[in-house]
Amino acid sequence: MFKGFTRFLQSPGAHFRTLFGPQDASGGQAGPRIVPRDQHPISRQHFSEAALKVLYRLHNAGFEAYLVGGCIRDSLLGKMPKDFDVATDATPEQVRELFRNSRIIGRRFRIVHVRFGREVIEVTTFRGTHGDDHGEQVAQQSEHGLLLRDNVWGNIQEDAIRRDFTVNAIYYSIADFSIHDFADGMQDIESRTLRLIGDPAVRYREDPVRMLRAVRFAAKLDFHIAPDSEAPIGELAPLLLQIPPARLFDEVLKLFMAGHGVETFRLLRHYGLFAMLFPEAEETMAEQPWVEALIEQALASTDRRIHEERPVTPAFLFAALLWGPVQHRQAALEAEGMPPIPALQLASQQALSRQLKHISIPKRFSLPMRDIWDLQQRLPQRRGKRALQTREHPRFRAAYDFLLLREAAGEIEPGLGAWWTAYQEGDEHEQRRLLEKAGADAGPGGNDSRRRRPRKRRRRSSPGSS
Ligand code: ATP
Ligand code: MG
Repeated sequence: MFKGFTRFLQSPGAHFRTLFGPQDASGGQAGPRIVPRDQHPISRQHFSEAALKVLYRLHNAGFEAYLVGGCIRDSLLGKMPKDFDVATDATPEQVRELFRNSRIIGRRFRIVHVRFGREVIEVTTFRGTHGDDHGEQVAQQSEHGLLLRDNVWGNIQEDAIRRDFTVNAIYYSIADFSIHDFADGMQDIESRTLRLIGDPAVRYREDPVRMLRAVRFAAKLDFHIAPDSEAPIGELAPLLLQIPPARLFDEVLKLFMAGHGVETFRLLRHYGLFAMLFPEAEETMAEQPWVEALIEQALASTDRRIHEERPVTPAFLFAALLWGPVQHRQAALEAEGMPPIPALQLASQQALSRQLKHISIPKRFSLPMRDIWDLQQRLPQRRGKRALQTREHPRFRAAYDFLLLREAAGEIEPGLGAWWTAYQEGDEHEQRRLLEKAGADAGPGGNDSRRRRPRKRRRRSSPGSS
């Protein structure tokens, strides 16, 4: 956190009023706390050129223009903002007219994306409060309080109180570089508190994804969730079942692919949210201790790679998240007499289609995920040309990493992973030696996969068998 900011908060003149606290969430009367430029640490140097361009062009066209949300919150915490959200009184059409490189997206929540090369600035028109006469067409709420659409325009004050957390409702004005704090967010940044604006239960019902956002920010920022914002989550978690699978896919990526996956996973489980996203994974975790270990290790390795700026793929993570259910089904199918290869195929298909009811996993991730699973059955088979063929499979590396995770998690005995490590590192001579060894260890078929889980014997139906 910036030294100047902390000093400012501790100075005697810095007193806070709760303008839109739980009791006054419908507000609109009271104004924000305005912090002039010389009393806060945020400068234009924290922002990308693209973000400044958007702000200035809106401003010069006579519109209000503010940076808001994650970029201001993160700047106040001394972190590099990862992207920029602009709030304005210009309508999406007016924004669209100002920027050739822009397009209007979303139906439930219409915003404008302004593109500068690879950077996208999100421009959002101030949202107003619903329920008044002009609201019907543009805002819609289900009988359970779920916001189906939110396209009522309003002023900045109304916009601030419909945002999720107090720390996300801090605005930076391009007109005079001041900060407008509508919900005591700066104080919550100081005490590292995540607090929903308004009545938490109402706000979660409006949009249950806010429960996931609470956990995501708590893990990412190392904040605690305020007790009254935390309290309703256990009871309201099942509301996530109403969220369209496509939106949940996007949220799951943000939860697990932002470098804080392990902590996020623990919090999700703590609040009973994980079971709403991956119900079968949660069930198998209760039955097999390795399932949790496998997921944690996959997340830890993803976190590590992100911090090292190495590439990560959701396919690998989903492979780990769903492997418990796949193995559970496969074991059941084998117990009914199905041979291992078709059992794995069918189990994969069933576990995936069950999961897709909750979270849509695009084919470009589910296909490589299934390859990783299929290869688990090929990795133990190394005789003849098999090892070489497996080694050349485009998904070999991911499958090998996955095998190492399975061993480390205690699902299978260690050994095969080390063999493959040596095989990859060895020269031709060493590889030949390893292949001979594999053949000798494995006996006919070269399959020496040793499971810890006792496998049920296949029923034999032929008459002469005992
Ligand atoms: P980050 O981009 O670092 O993940 P962020 O806070 O910027 O965090 P965004 O998803 O980019 O998150 O949203 C920008 C802002 O829009 C938020 O800070 C918040 O003010 C508002 N917002 C986003 N999603 C919601 C929501 N579901 N309910 C209410 N307000 C929201
Ligand atoms: Mg953002």
